[in-house]
Amino acid sequence: MSINCNFCGKNEKEVLKLFKGNEAYICNECVDLCNEITEDLAEENKKEFMSNLGFLKKKIEKLENDLRITKNNPSF
Ligand SMILES: [Zn+2]
Repeated sequence: MSINCNFCGKNEKEVLKLFKGNEAYICNECVDLCNEITEDLAEENKKEFMSNLGFLKKKIEKLENDLRITKNNPSF
């Protein structure tokens, strides 16, 4: 009985390595693909994080500015 990757269906002779899971197998090619997707997601998350960070920084700058204005104008 040949062992096949449960994701792409290739058998153990067609790929470099088949990794055994609980009830399934995954080949090195599918693992590579998953890694690529994970990296893409990480990159997207990083971009989103950085843009959120930029937004927060602007907010903080604005708050600091407001604070400065309030300090300089006690009646404000
Ligand atoms: Zn596969």
